[in-house]
Amino acid sequence: MVRLILLGPPGAGKGTQAQKLAAELKVPHISTGVILRQAAEKKTVLGKRAKAIMDAGQLVSDDIMLGIIRDRLQAKDCEKGYILDGFPRTIPQAEALDQLLSQKTEPPVVIANLSLDEQELRRRIAGRRSEAARSDDAEETVLSRFQVYQEKTRPLLVYYGGRVRPIDGKGSVPEVFQQLTELLKVAAVRSPEAAS
Ligand code: AMP
Repeated sequence: MVRLILLGPPGAGKGTQAQKLAAELKVPHISTGVILRQAAEKKTVLGKRAKAIMDAGQLVSDDIMLGIIRDRLQAKDCEKGYILDGFPRTIPQAEALDQLLSQKTEPPVVIANLSLDEQELRRRIAGRRSEAARSDDAEETVLSRFQVYQEKTRPLLVYYGGRVRPIDGKGSVPEVFQQLTELLKVAAVRSPEAAS
């Protein structure tokens, strides 16, 4: 059983690492950004609303996000664990997640924070601009996303405090992946039921 919350600023490599970890550990990669972008592509009511918010570099409301995550975590494939990427992003989301998880007798969640200096973050997002074609990677939007990260998401590091395991996001994709797998191994040893 592996449950990982991957924190970190935009461009730190959360999506890439979460995808690789999920494939390796055979648990779902739950990216709230991907869920919202899929809804936007399908042009559902939620999707259209979310697209405008995402393109402005702002956050979709906690109520909506909580509804999405509650449904998703109840799905059968989450029984073996999951990698959470992009959730929680605000203190109320973290509080609600804590409450959701405390209702079940499950081993503790591992919380990793992928950090990288802002210059490198900007360089990586600029590189992503041509490849992934995410409309919210436009330069003006990235500025808002960084601001929102500082104001709303960074405080999660204080909220989770000593539970947060720092991961240096500077290395290559395999190097960062190695750090994360080591961290999960250590967590599984400390909490034996987490390894099952
Ligand atoms: P991401 O792919 O994680 O960078 O998310 C892309 C965009 O989706 C964000 O900039 C937000 O607009 C929105 N989003 C994703 N996850 C959340 C969340 N947990 N709370 C609010 N908005 C979110």
